[in-house]
Amino acid sequence: MNIIIFGPNGSGKGTQGAVVQKKFAVPHIETGVIFRENIKKGTELGKKAKGYIDKGELVPDDITVPMILDRLKEPDCAKGWLLDGFPRNLAQAEAIWAALEKAKMKLDYVIEIVLDRETSKKRIMGRRLCATDNNHPNNIFIDAIKPSMKDGKMVCRVCGDDRLTTRADDQDEDAIDKRHGIYYDAETGTLSAVKYFKDRVKVIELDGLPGVKEVSEDLIKKLS
Ligand code: AMP
Repeated sequence: MNIIIFGPNGSGKGTQGAVVQKKFAVPHIETGVIFRENIKKGTELGKKAKGYIDKGELVPDDITVPMILDRLKEPDCAKGWLLDGFPRNLAQAEAIWAALEKAKMKLDYVIEIVLDRETSKKRIMGRRLCATDNNHPNNIFIDAIKPSMKDGKMVCRVCGDDRLTTRADDQDEDAIDKRHGIYYDAETGTLSAVKYFKDRVKVIELDGLPGVKEVSEDLIKKLS
């Protein structure tokens, strides 16, 4: 199964991505996570990407596109993949479409989580990251995935890890606005990439406003 999931930052894309990953047992490839791991390790790629990420700007396509196309060639992707955070603009959509055609690979599903900008922003600011597993969703503003409390301390609701952190770019309103500006841009930004796929394949649309459970149920129903 080859799947691409779209949704503005804060729409629950990562959370629903984890549901898809579980259903199809394919690697969940998140561009932002790859960049952040590289920054943490101090790699050349991380050094190049950091400045853009801190400002909420896209890392240039000549870095991002080959990085993702190479990642999809790794052995764990042989049976499929779930791509999250890529493509994020029209050029990236064209690049992955061309790469798939060249490799004679099919795109099985394209999923779009639809959510307004204001709600997405609030949800971003409430997001908490679990140090044990990036796929353990926690958000202080969403009841269904609120972190648990243990001995007066906030802990991951899935595994109880007390190392819950925020991402710097999630607490910076300018960076959030920039990221959303890119997402909601229907001319050359991410919505234009969504449209690119809508013109070519059937895109599964999900309303991101209801609770996590309702969105997951809708997703599972539409995937089967
Ligand atoms: P995310 O974790 O998806 O919110 O991504 C965090 C940051 O990584 C973004 O704000 C960009 O700076 C960078 N990034 C993630 N995906 C891409 C992409 N497809 N193209 C360029 N930059 C990206």
